[in-house]
Amino acid sequence: MPIETFTAQVESIENLTHDVRRLDLRLIEPKTITFKPGQFISFEMPHPQTGRLVTRAYSIASQPSQSGVVTLIFNLVQDGPGSGFLFHLQVGDKTHFKGPAGHFYLRDEPTRELLFVASGTGIAPIRSMLLANAERSDPRPATLFWGLRSQRDLYDQEELAELSRQNPTFTAITTLSRPDPGWSGESGRVLRLIEERIASVKDLAVYLCGNSAMIADATVLLQKKGLCPIYREKYYDGEEGDGS
Ligand SMILES: Cc1cc2nc3c(=O)[nH]c(=O)nc-3n(C[C@H](O)[C@H](O)[C@H](O)COP(=O)(O)OP(=O)(O)OC[C@H]3O[C@@H](n4cnc5c(N)ncnc54)[C@H](O)[C@@H]3O)c2cc1C
Repeated sequence: MPIETFTAQVESIENLTHDVRRLDLRLIEPKTITFKPGQFISFEMPHPQTGRLVTRAYSIASQPSQSGVVTLIFNLVQDGPGSGFLFHLQVGDKTHFKGPAGHFYLRDEPTRELLFVASGTGIAPIRSMLLANAERSDPRPATLFWGLRSQRDLYDQEELAELSRQNPTFTAITTLSRPDPGWSGESGRVLRLIEERIASVKDLAVYLCGNSAMIADATVLLQKKGLCPIYREKYYDGEEGDGS
């Protein structure tokens, strides 16, 4: 798939939490995009301090069958040029991006079950993969471990529950690293879920997305359990910010 430059218009904006937003971009020229679930697009924007153009990548959170609208999910980073740029877009605004790109995409490995591990907005490309998998005539059995910080950071829980109702071989577990009192769901890091719930990786294909610490720790943990393909997308260096 060649990298193209797209013009798009903001069709809708949804505040998912206090600092996470979903944006639907309707493609104007070209009118459709062909991509693999998990790939990303890139925006160019001036750095607010230096005025220099910088580039930031955002995963496509929608599935390839929805080829005329690209959905993004992103969180606000204090004084960040990329997230600030996206947070400033209003419904009706036109923007440009390049894409699709990236090697973090859902492989066709019919003998393997899928394990997805996300921290924070690392859910974006995994959402695309989950929706694409659900559209298959015979979806691969899949498990999602998603790490967020506390109750106010939760979103898309109903969408995941609906996906599991439609496909009983899909299990989604969200864990909160710093839950407020009253939380009866899973708590702790996603690593604990890998540790406790994954007995063998022999028949798995694993997809990790989020901050670098989660990806590094999860990789070590999975490799201790055996050999399997592990595909990874690192959003940023560090571990703070999303409660993974
Ligand atoms: C392939 C790829 C796909 C990506 N897809 C997405 C996506 O779908 N959604 C999304 O929200 N981000 C995504 N990112 C991260 C995104 O590109 C930016 O790095 C992020 O929005 C911050 O950019 P900024 O210019 O606002 O802040 P910057 O000035 O670049 O970042 C400042 C500092 O904030 C920290 N930081 C960066 N990102 C985050 C974050 N998400 N949460 C907390 N702290 C952070 C880092 O320590 C960084 O050094 C992706 C990154 C890559 C490489």
